Order: sequence, then structure tokens, then C-alpha cells
Amino acid sequence: MITSDFDIVIAGGGLAGSTLACALANTDMRIAIIESVAASADHQPSFDDRAIALAYGSQRIFEGIGLWEAIAPNATAIRKIHVSERGGFGFTHLDAAEEQVPALGYVALARELGGAITQQLESSNVTRISPATVVGFAHTENQLSVVVEADGRQQQLTTRLLVAADGGQSLIRQQLDIKTRQWEYGQTAIVTNVTPGIPHHNIAYERFTPNGPLALLPMTENRFGVVLTIDSEACDDVMAFDDDAFITLLQQRMGFRCGRFSRVGERFSYPLTLMTANEAVRPRIALLGNAGHALHPISGQGFNLGLRDIAVLAGLIVNADRLMQDPGSQQLLQQYQKQRLPDQQQVALLTDGLVRLFGNPLRGISVGRNLGMLAADLLPGVRQRIARHAMGLSGIHSRLARGLSLGKYNE
Ligand SMILES: Cc1cc2nc3c(=O)[nH]c(=O)nc-3n(C[C@H](O)[C@H](O)[C@H](O)COP(=O)(O)OP(=O)(O)OC[C@H]3O[C@@H](n4cnc5c(N)ncnc54)[C@H](O)[C@@H]3O)c2cc1C
Repeated sequence: MITSDFDIVIAGGGLAGSTLACALANTDMRIAIIESVAASADHQPSFDDRAIALAYGSQRIFEGIGLWEAIAPNATAIRKIHVSERGGFGFTHLDAAEEQVPALGYVALARELGGAITQQLESSNVTRISPATVVGFAHTENQLSVVVEADGRQQQLTTRLLVAADGGQSLIRQQLDIKTRQWEYGQTAIVTNVTPGIPHHNIAYERFTPNGPLALLPMTENRFGVVLTIDSEACDDVMAFDDDAFITLLQQRMGFRCGRFSRVGERFSYPLTLMTANEAVRPRIALLGNAGHALHPISGQGFNLGLRDIAVLAGLIVNADRLMQDPGSQQLLQQYQKQRLPDQQQVALLTDGLVRLFGNPLRGISVGRNLGMLAADLLPGVRQRIARHAMGLSGIHSRLARGLSLGKYNE
């Protein structure tokens, strides 16, 4: 029998890679995670100050992994979601009470999520190799040789499965020459936080305007996490605004439904693209999280989709390990691809559709989408389907997605 250094090597210790490592930690498997940026660095790109809306289904996945207890103290429940269009007559709302769930989702800062995940990893049996970068790989008989560069020196590790969690620009995906479908929106998201003039009452707002959508996500200390989408051409100007000018812009987009805004936090900008990979696997390699799909944050779905990848992949791997089967087998990888590609492509299409629908200023289309929102609001069946989608509950059946642990290891 061929022995490898590791059963699983995860390239990329961002939100997706490190959450997968937690899901697989404390099994009998030998897991390594390789991350370019040192854990001590406060500029870890995946653990920054963006507010992440976690769907209710994602909360259950974290629960199953045993991470929710550490995340919950800094997370804010979303009890209602209010969707509207500036200058339009229609709006729709989703309500946790109507859906009979404690919350439609939760909001947490990526930095705080990263902190909770990293802390759990530190007390696990996962080997963290960092700062170090995966620069290549080669197939050998029944395993993969992974080339890792650290301090200008190269080292080779062998593994039975390489998980590419190396983000939207994934080097592994590019080296595999996996084709992608990609749209550039010419838009940039500006992320910050702001205090509303009245209590937010745990309501999240999605406001569509001809200049791009604005999302306000309820956070601790009566703040909103702001995701403001603008044309990329205006980005430098808006980033240079003083706080008063920035608040005026927010107020123009949102109106005064949340009172007068004050106390704007630091601003960060992210150019927006949409990318989906046509394949999720190659022999002994699986793409995970943004390496396989990077979305416009209009519907706050990117990491939620990544968490559903994790739930399925971790479930398949732990099951294979229990049966003493190969975690990098072709059969396992095909199952992963079959279960994940349709969800990834559907959410990408929906997100793209929203960007295009609400970005279209034509009068007829504007009336149509307002009627659509009114219909969604008045017809409970339609609203319930939208709610299940927003909560990340459509068509997902893995153990972790049901909030259950992966069995004896994590219990
Ligand atoms: C403005 C904005 C708002 C968002 N809001 C939401 C939201 O509300 N809800 C939601 O679900 N999602 C949201 N998202 C999406 C979410 O942030 C991403 O889906 C998530 O961060 C992706 O995590 P990842 O680990 O897959 O990739 P990344 O965060 O890109 O992490 C990749 C990691 O891999 C490392 N790496 C790269 N190459 C290598 C290599 N060769 N070797 C070793 N390490 C490597 C990097 O250093 C990095 O740490 C938002 C995104 C943006 C831009």
C-alpha cells in the first residue's frame, strides 16, 4: 500500500478552507492546511471587516461542525428582510416568525468568523503550514504530490486528496485549465458600517436603486453593516468622500426609513465579478468555495454557497473514512460534483439575474419588477419559496446541513 504524508491537503486557509478543516478535525485522518498569509497577520484577506450575512441553513452547518457556540456571541439575528426599490411602489418582506424559525439568518464580521474558526483549529490535530503557498502539484500512482513554497524554498507533500480553497483567483483551478464563466459588472462594493437614527430591530434591508443595490445588515451595538454597490468609475471619488458626504449618499439611496445615519466606520472596496467554474473536480482534486464560484454580493450568497460545498464534501469524506475507503476516489469526487454543481450554477444565475433585473432603468421593466415584489409579498406560497431560498434550505440534505454532527468523531 502507498502511504501519503497526509490524507487531505487543503490549499487556502480562508473562510472556506479553514471551516472545512474544522469539519474534518479530530477524525483519524491526517489533515494539513496550507495558507499564504501568516495566522498572526491582521491583513488575512479572507478575515477582513466585511459583514457576512449567514443564512439560517449556514448557522445549522456551523452548529453541526461545533463552531456555532464560538460564533454566536458576536452574531446578530436577522428577524426580517425588507426588499424595496427606490422610487418604486412594490416591496416584499420575509419574516422569521412566519417561517417559524428563530431567525432568517445571522450577521457576523468575516474577521470575527475567522477568529472563531482559527481558535478551534489551533486546538485540533490539523497541521497548519503557514505562511506557505501551494505552487504546483503532480499526479503519482494513487496519490498527489503537492509543491509548497515557504521562505523561498520548495517542499513536496503527498496526499490522497487536494482541496483547492485558494479563492477566486485559484492557482490550482488555473493550472488545471478548468474553464469558467465570468462576468465583469463594472461595479464595486463599498463596505463599512453605520449607526441608524432609530433601533434596527434586527431588520435587514435590500434596497435597489438605478445606481446599484444597497444592503444594510443589522449588527451589534445598533449598527448596520453596509454593502453599497456603485459604478467602478465612481469608486475613487466615493472612497475619498468625507463622512458627511458619504452619509448623504447613503441617505439618498435609502431614504429615511432607518432615520438619520451617523458614525461611519472605515471603508473598504471590492470590485465585483461573477465567476463559476464548469467543473468542481479533477482526479484527486476538489474545488471549494470561491475557487469554484465567486458571486456579486447583491444576495449575500457567496460564503453560504461555500458552506454548502463544505457540508457535502466533509460528509462524503468522513463517510469514506469510516468505511476505510479512499477520500480522493473518483467515485467520491463525482458524487461531490453531482451534488454541488447544480446549486452553484442556479445561485449564480439567480444572482446575475437580480443584478441585471434591478440594474435595468427601463420603465416597463421597473413596473414589472415592482409588481413582482408586490406579488411576492401578497402570495404567501411565493414568499415562502423565496424565504427557503434566502435561508439556504432549498434542496440540501447532507448531515451537516441539517445541523447534525458528522458522527462519532465530532460528537
Ligand atoms: C463585499 C462583499 C460582501 C460579501 N458578503 C457576503 C455575505 O453577506 N454572505 C455571504 O455568504 N458571502 C458574502 N461574500 C462572499 C464571501 O466573502 C466569500 O464567499 C468568502 O470570503 C470566500 O471564502 P474563500 O475561503 O472561498 O476564499 P478567500 O476568502 O478568497 O480565501 C482564499 C484563501 O486562500 C489563500 N491562498 C490563495 N492562494 C493560495 C495558494 N496558492 N496557497 C495557499 N494559500 C492560498 C488566501 O491567502 C486566502 O486566505 C461577500 C463578498 C464580498 C466581496
